[in-house]
Amino acid sequence: MPARILDGKAVAAELRERLRGDVADFHRRTGITPHLAAVLVGEDPASAVYVRNKRRACEQAGIKSTLHHHVAETSQAEVLNLINRLNTDADVLGILVQLPLPEQIDQQAVLDAVSPLKDVDCFHPENVGLLMQGRPRFAPCTPAGVQELLLAGGIETEGAHAVVLGRSEIVGKPMAALLMQRGRAADATVTVCHSRSRDLADITRTADILIAAIGRARFVTAEMVKPGAAVIDVGINRVDERLVGDVDFEAVTKVAGAITPVPGGVGPMTIAMLLGNTLRAARLASE
Ligand code: NDP
Repeated sequence: MPARILDGKAVAAELRERLRGDVADFHRRTGITPHLAAVLVGEDPASAVYVRNKRRACEQAGIKSTLHHHVAETSQAEVLNLINRLNTDADVLGILVQLPLPEQIDQQAVLDAVSPLKDVDCFHPENVGLLMQGRPRFAPCTPAGVQELLLAGGIETEGAHAVVLGRSEIVGKPMAALLMQRGRAADATVTVCHSRSRDLADITRTADILIAAIGRARFVTAEMVKPGAAVIDVGINRVDERLVGDVDFEAVTKVAGAITPVPGGVGPMTIAMLLGNTLRAARLASE
């Protein structure tokens, strides 16, 4: 029997609908419209699509969004000036810096400059620290989206062995942090693998939940998956003009118990979480 599809698009649509109500309710009570400022530097087509999708989702949820688009040659000082302006602009409640930034710009310096109270991507060290201590201010969008998808799909995480492929600051590390914590959609036993891990397939085959976030097209094969496991594919890779994940979907679907498609799995959940964080930032600002 092929694996059950964990339909991120459908779950995200439900979350966004609920959020639309929450935004309207917040506006009724406070008079405040949550406002997300998106910073885009350069002409990377994929980044432009991501920003457009995020802004469209904001609009549908009743969240105001503004785009600050700068040419690829923009200097670090100019980007930092912009971030400082957005930090002090009382109307702007969330700031999103679309990555990657052009190479003349120190990405870490820019992310560190975002006010922790407007850091809706949860990249600021203060917010990462709070997350690690199990008292997050903001949910890291992609990992939290995965968690919500596991929850919606009825995937038991408590006591399960979750193997995370990838240790990036954006996906792998915060994913492991969320799953190892106490509580809802968590309490898992977590193993994190990366490019230096030995005997990768031996490790992944012990996973009840396998999360692939490495950026290698169709890297996870059927032989790497325990029968019945839940396989979450975070990867987005472009192959022959098509989007494919880090998991060989056709083969793995015959072995896994549940699987996320690409596109239509984790991607839409990430956007839904970003909207949720923007509302949260607005609530924090109004307290
Ligand atoms: P990074 O390139 O920052 O990190 C990749 C990680 O994978 C690194 O830790 C790296 O190890 C590890 N890795 C690379 N090759 C191997 C290998 N052969 N075996 C084991 N581990 C390996 O990527 P991101 O975390 O930013 O993104 C991962 C993927 O997820 C990408 O395809 C990206 O496009 C996608 N993505 C999707 C999102 C969504 O919303 N769906 C959001 C964010 C990302 P090492 O540290 O040793 O180099």
